[in-house]
Amino acid sequence: MQINKKSKIYVAGHRGLVGSALVRQLEGLGYSNIICRTRKELDLLNQAATNNFFNIEKPEYVFLAAAKVGGIMANSTYPAEFIYENLQVQTNVIQAAYQVNVKWLCFLGSSCIYPRDCPQPIMEEYFLSGPLEKSNEPYAVAKIAGIELCNSFNQGLGTNYVSVMPTNLYGPNDSYNLEESHVLPALIRKAHEAKLRGDHEMVVWGSGEPFREFLYVDDMADACIFLMEKGIGRGMFNIGLGEDISIGQLAHLVAEIVEFKGAIVFDRTKPDGTPRKLLDVSRMSELGWKAKTSLADGIALAYADFLRNENAILSS
Ligand code: GDP
Repeated sequence: MQINKKSKIYVAGHRGLVGSALVRQLEGLGYSNIICRTRKELDLLNQAATNNFFNIEKPEYVFLAAAKVGGIMANSTYPAEFIYENLQVQTNVIQAAYQVNVKWLCFLGSSCIYPRDCPQPIMEEYFLSGPLEKSNEPYAVAKIAGIELCNSFNQGLGTNYVSVMPTNLYGPNDSYNLEESHVLPALIRKAHEAKLRGDHEMVVWGSGEPFREFLYVDDMADACIFLMEKGIGRGMFNIGLGEDISIGQLAHLVAEIVEFKGAIVFDRTKPDGTPRKLLDVSRMSELGWKAKTSLADGIALAYADFLRNENAILSS
């Protein structure tokens, strides 16, 4: 589908990891009418304000990347916020988009919507086929509701709302707060600070045995825009690198890139979460899309960005 570069595109959550990558990429591709609102300017938890914004702006394309996200600890500390805020924001945005006839919407899901013990790699068909991982169930249930909202609007109301399931993402504008972040930014920060302090060891949570898949966020943005430009407005698509790594190996890789030379020790009092979460990405590869950034290159890019913003990151 040829999309006019002047089409009005709303990126919800433009300050976050995915939203900011979408804006960078869209701008790079020459899209010139991207609209964004900070939380202060537009509270997406507020239905009337959200409707009002859509009625005034009437975007043609929407990326719904506004969400409350966090790592294993944040999910278990704030379960109410994770389910409530995500349910509310996605419901408000999807309904408001429908009211103003948005042409296409992309809903950002998550790989944690899949059953905890499903076969690996995880195919889209495994959706709703078994019990979820407990450590982030409230978040996963909200994301599942978002996918069902999109599917149901498409089926009942003829909309074009596609859902994407990213694997664990990382890159610029990630959270580096050790209590709330995901594992990769946490390891970058821990290795960097341990190096600066001259520590002999750095602590990694859990056994180091779980496997995770990581995707550099610019590849995620690329996949979402690919779907928009192809005019794919239905169904759900896994977005990943197609390969995973154990947390222990990941810690060694991060230490190597950050040049932390001490030992890596495991704090087994911390939870492991789900044992493995590798996405089957054949649906996207059949369409002709593939991730471009290897894990080692992505970590080097993320670390370079971390160093550029070190003062702001470490003081927040
Ligand atoms: P998950 O993929 O939803 O489980 O979320 P995380 O990215 O927070 O955690 C992934 C895995 O990394 C879990 O097994 C964690 O125990 C492990 N892990 C190791 N060290 C850390 C750390 O410093 N922070 C976080 N968030 N996870 C860590």
